[in-house]
Amino acid sequence: METAVRVVEFDEALDIVLQFAGGLKAPSTEILTLLDCEARVLAQTVVADRDQPPFDRSTRDGFAVRASEAIRGDGLTVIGQVRAGERWTGGTLRTGTAIEIMTGAPVPEGADAVVMVEHVERSGETIRLQEGRSLRGGENVVPRGAEARAGGVLLTEGTVLEAAEIALAAACGYSSLTVFRRPRVAIVATGDELVEVDQTPDEQQIRNSNSYGIAALVASAGGRPGRLEIARDLREELWERVAQGRMWDLLLFSGGVSMGQYDLVEEVLAEFDAEFFFTGVKMQPGKPVVFGRLPARQHPPNGTPEPECYFFGLPGNPVSTQVTFHCFVEPLLRAMGGAAVQGPKFVQATLEEDVAGKAGLMRILPARLTSGRVTPTVRLVGWQGSGDLAANARANCYAVLPPGRERFGAGDVITILLR
Ligand code: AMP
Ligand code: MG
Repeated sequence: METAVRVVEFDEALDIVLQFAGGLKAPSTEILTLLDCEARVLAQTVVADRDQPPFDRSTRDGFAVRASEAIRGDGLTVIGQVRAGERWTGGTLRTGTAIEIMTGAPVPEGADAVVMVEHVERSGETIRLQEGRSLRGGENVVPRGAEARAGGVLLTEGTVLEAAEIALAAACGYSSLTVFRRPRVAIVATGDELVEVDQTPDEQQIRNSNSYGIAALVASAGGRPGRLEIARDLREELWERVAQGRMWDLLLFSGGVSMGQYDLVEEVLAEFDAEFFFTGVKMQPGKPVVFGRLPARQHPPNGTPEPECYFFGLPGNPVSTQVTFHCFVEPLLRAMGGAAVQGPKFVQATLEEDVAGKAGLMRILPARLTSGRVTPTVRLVGWQGSGDLAANARANCYAVLPPGRERFGAGDVITILLR
């Protein structure tokens, strides 16, 4: 069966993916204890159960005072102390007095500022603001409710839960959270040349490394990977894998999508009435990447219902596989897992060297971002082309070189794709 060819610009491919990502329906949910929520997607709101902070909180060790008295240079009598976890029970602060206070303790009523312990002279029970020091009303105090109001929504559905969000949920008293179930992703490696990782390849054979790489990418994008058996470049075997894999939430192929005589993945998908949103992208590496959807159907007519299933055909060369995953699969997969729709992780860095562009193609090349500097710089990793797994592992990002420019110069700020 013939499939219509639709090779699109990189930006258009991304738009197409993000458009479908935005139209997905929310997955089902499960409840997890807070400790199991790392990297999961929130399926509820998180609401402040009380004002945060719940009291006017001192941010310093020092003395709770009236700022106006302290800046006049009056000596103030220290009449007591309040520690974190305690409350001052001696009533409103009287004129001419101060209360020693520790970081995190509630500021006593009547005090409107905390003067740092380092900023006062103390003699016996009297303190005085040091010469030349000033103090504003409210200084070193976070007023009750300034961070959040009781009942206020602090996290919304679709938020990815990392340390910041988990700590916030804990602060609001959540010991468990409702999260979305992770999508199940079927991975099918295709190719007559492939052997499994525990087999000894003949000289002309190669190990199926892509299934493992893709499984890792799926897991880190919030999916649950499953590797189906390798498919030879035979219609029957590919047909079986599609029939099996279409029951999963997402179906990923590696290889078999180029122009070769044995690249049969698209043909077989077409036999399942696949819609193809694109069959290639003007990029390097990754040009043969395919994105589409199998329609829901009942097959045979009184058989098991087969749900709608999105698929990607990723090029077999491992660097192409991983680059196209980051660009297109990751945004769709994250959205399938209930996360707010987001494109690939593009940021900017300064190029360290001159690099050639390529007319008509978006180049996305293995590169290394310097670490440990405030202004990141990036340089390409030498490579032997899109089969070079060793270079891909030496890289920690990809340099994005848009089409239409012959050269990118040292010192140019360019886009990089994080992974
Ligand atoms: P293809 O996209 O099927 O034309 O494959 C392109 C090249 O990618 C092949 O020549 C293989 O060297 C390599 N390749 C294909 N599948 C895999 C795989 N599962 N693991 C590692 N390399 C692969
Ligand atoms: Mg192949």
